[in-house]
Amino acid sequence: MPRGTRLIAVSKTKPVEDLMQAYQAGQRLFGENKALEMRDKYLVMPKDIQWHFIGHLQTNKVKYIAPFVSLIHSVDSLHLLKEINKEAVKNGRCIDCLLQIDIAHEQTKFGMEDALAEELLTGDAYREMKNIRICGLMGIGSITDDREQTRREFAHLKDLFDKFKHLYFSEEDCFSELSMGMSEDYETALQQGSTLVRIGSSIFGARDYGTAH
Ligand SMILES: *Cc1c(COP(=O)(O)O)cnc(C)c1O
Repeated sequence: MPRGTRLIAVSKTKPVEDLMQAYQAGQRLFGENKALEMRDKYLVMPKDIQWHFIGHLQTNKVKYIAPFVSLIHSVDSLHLLKEINKEAVKNGRCIDCLLQIDIAHEQTKFGMEDALAEELLTGDAYREMKNIRICGLMGIGSITDDREQTRREFAHLKDLFDKFKHLYFSEEDCFSELSMGMSEDYETALQQGSTLVRIGSSIFGARDYGTAH
């Protein structure tokens, strides 16, 4: 992988034993998409792990991960950001976040339109929040075999990232992360400048979403 790019092992639905195997092989960044599942794994696993939250986050669940989460990739509203800030204050810490941008325009995906993200960054409400830091952008590509479409979506996210960095973060170096790429499309994402790839099934095998949990 290019220098400066980090691999997040997406361990959602997988048992702690599987995560521990990856941990013993040296992996320290794990991604989860359910707040309680992440909290439960955090409680029993070594404390030098960085926990990345990558799923849709409901405001009433923020409290479960606020004490320890290292990066929330999926901020998709000002409302959610306010709640994260509130819980960060309670925990006496600053929580790093990414804004999730809707790059695929598929019904099932979450994320903000470009203009909404820009509105958030230029608004007073954001400026007043002292316990969150926006460190970059995240996007989920379309599920498609069309590499050119995927490339366009990631290139668009990179352009938006560069624009925001130039316009709103020119004096700070915290705005530096571009989270894009999963098992199926990480190569394209890396070519387009991803700094955080989120890989699940290629590491842990296919997930079983059956009824057994
Ligand atoms: C599950 C998930 C991944 C990992 O997907 P794989 O295809 O298993 O690599 C990455 N990002 C998000 C947001 C996810 O929900």
